[in-house]
Amino acid sequence: MEYAKNILETIGNTPLVKINTLTKDLPCLVLSKYETFNPGNSVKDRMAVQMIADAEVDGRLKPGGTIIEGTSGNTGMGLALAAIVKGYKCIFVMADKQSKEKVDMLKAVGAEVVVCPTAVDPDDPRSYYSVSKRLGEETPNSWYVNQYDNPSNTKAHYESTGPEIWKQTDGKITHFVVGVGTGGTISGVGKYLKEQNPNIKIWGVDTYGSVFKKYHETGVFDENEIYPYVTEGIGEDILPKNVDFSIIDGFTKVTDKDAAVYTQRLAKEEGMFLGNSAGAAIKGVLQLKEHFTKDDVVVVLFHDHGSRYVGKMFNDDWMREMGYIE
Ligand code: PMP
Repeated sequence: MEYAKNILETIGNTPLVKINTLTKDLPCLVLSKYETFNPGNSVKDRMAVQMIADAEVDGRLKPGGTIIEGTSGNTGMGLALAAIVKGYKCIFVMADKQSKEKVDMLKAVGAEVVVCPTAVDPDDPRSYYSVSKRLGEETPNSWYVNQYDNPSNTKAHYESTGPEIWKQTDGKITHFVVGVGTGGTISGVGKYLKEQNPNIKIWGVDTYGSVFKKYHETGVFDENEIYPYVTEGIGEDILPKNVDFSIIDGFTKVTDKDAAVYTQRLAKEEGMFLGNSAGAAIKGVLQLKEHFTKDDVVVVLFHDHGSRYVGKMFNDDWMREMGYIE
């Protein structure tokens, strides 16, 4: 018999799938690392189990403990699955701009969810950074995960996602393009790929309202770059320790409208029912057209599944209200 001993053993080894229609004007092959095949439907399962495993080893997480994290949903799902298998409790803190589906989903796997306002400074006591930290301090036998600064996040991608992409492309990958939030994905995959071949270019996809692109280009943390935006999962108003700017060749910014429109287009034109950051990522690839030539092999990573966005990017009334479609 061939079976996984528990759901966590099914994490990773996701397929690499060619994009056919949306990229027809590009000279190169574009392949997507299709992370929704993970059991929690996102790439974040990989780093969630790694962060828990490392915290168990050094005693930060003890038997029967409570896992506390600020999460836009996907990390929470990965942590919740692992918590069920391993016997922990979870409290998640989310910003109120996240879709209702994401909140319901985390409750469905037994987590307690605390919702905080989006439009406040990170230092504000009501912000989701501050609330998660405070809950971590106040809750007995708890562990505050802190995916932004937790090195196990990058490590998961260095040890699994990066090697998978290298092997699946037979070492022919020339460019890696990916949305950046905590930075774990780009930094772990990017570091691994550059160690195999330093000529591979690593591109981050950023949003308008986020600090990454300007910081990468100028070294200046410019508060004028920070304002509320709609795109979910990528962009930040802080510099997480997991973003290794030294391995990133450049950032491209995608508008909220384009990210939403391309999320719909991936579903309708490729049969790829994916989350909002996948729309941003594929639009990012198209924006980088001038960097690609005939023999290039571009890999774009798609983080999460479309089911989490049915009330937003896949709802035409919402799309019209936002002015994204006629
Ligand atoms: N897309 C989605 C949907 C996400 O949840 C995240 C994680 N915040 C990202 C992209 C960015 O990935 P990372 O945190 O590894 O930079």
